[in-house]
Amino acid sequence: MKLVAGNWKMFKGTSETLAFFDAFEAPAGVEVVVCPPFTSLSLAAGRGVPVYAQNVHWAVEGAFTGEISAQMLLELGVEGAVVGHSERRQYFGETDETVRKRCEAALEAGLRVIACVGETESEREAGETGAVLRRQVAAIPPHEALVIAYEPVWAIGTGKTATPELAQQAHESIKELHPTRVLYGGSVKPENAVELLAQPAIDGALVGGASLEPGSFGAICRAALA
Ligand code: PEP
Repeated sequence: MKLVAGNWKMFKGTSETLAFFDAFEAPAGVEVVVCPPFTSLSLAAGRGVPVYAQNVHWAVEGAFTGEISAQMLLELGVEGAVVGHSERRQYFGETDETVRKRCEAALEAGLRVIACVGETESEREAGETGAVLRRQVAAIPPHEALVIAYEPVWAIGTGKTATPELAQQAHESIKELHPTRVLYGGSVKPENAVELLAQPAIDGALVGGASLEPGSFGAICRAALA
């Protein structure tokens, strides 16, 4: 079964979260997950769609202002967490080492994990994609509750999508390094989802912008059934 996860980023406070769930119904036959911002997690949990956080700290508790632990998430009914999203790497100092620590702590606590990898445009142009993916994937612990999301940074929120062939190739190389399910992320929309999700090495999608609308997110979830 394919997995489609909606990363809401810093969108949807409590009232918009309720409106989303009023309008959204996950189709049967596909594993659907939503990742609201922290303040909407408890409201979203228990509404029939598994809820993941967008980040998680590695400590159980402590003097880490602004951070949230796996245990705190579990107490809310949250089932998993995204780790190492490129926006965390780009704007908040996330490194391969902190990705590894977050993954290990989350898995140890009993959360599921979507761990993100992907090259920037300049890394791709410099022919460094393979080396970047090898380095990032090496920091991610193998675990049955963990999936990897391949998100080429140049395709996130830009409207540029990797071609299905390019995504298929990147997924194959990631699977050689790490035997796991690999989701594709980067401007997935209802219009391109069927073709991307038809690639044999693409096991699902991590969707940003198009997951905010119940209609477009539902259409992408249905594309995973095709
Ligand atoms: C993301 O946030 O993980 C993402 C892939 O965003 P978008 O679908 O908007 O490119």
